Amino acid sequence: MSSTGNLAGRISPGVGVGSGGRAVCTACGHDLGPAAGPWKDHAGVREVPLAQAGGEAYDTGDDAVVLRQFHCPGCAVLLDTETAMRGDPALVDRPAAR
Ligand SMILES: [Zn+2]
Repeated sequence: MSSTGNLAGRISPGVGVGSGGRAVCTACGHDLGPAAGPWKDHAGVREVPLAQAGGEAYDTGDDAVVLRQFHCPGCAVLLDTETAMRGDPALVDRPAAR
């Protein structure tokens, strides 16, 4: 799929709901799995300690808190970010209610 002009909904600014209830990248249309499921499992992820991501103000001397950056495997655009404790499961996003 290369067109994202007819999305059925949005999960986040970077992730839409395409035909057949599939989560898709809004930039390139890459399939990210079922919209009702954890789309982040189908994305690339980069995890960096918050101190490295946010600078000195976020440096607690403990690298247990991380910034996760989720990327589209199709076009590498940044789809979403979240802060989390290292090793915790990713937050699950659901399509927005209309
Ligand atoms: Zn993409």
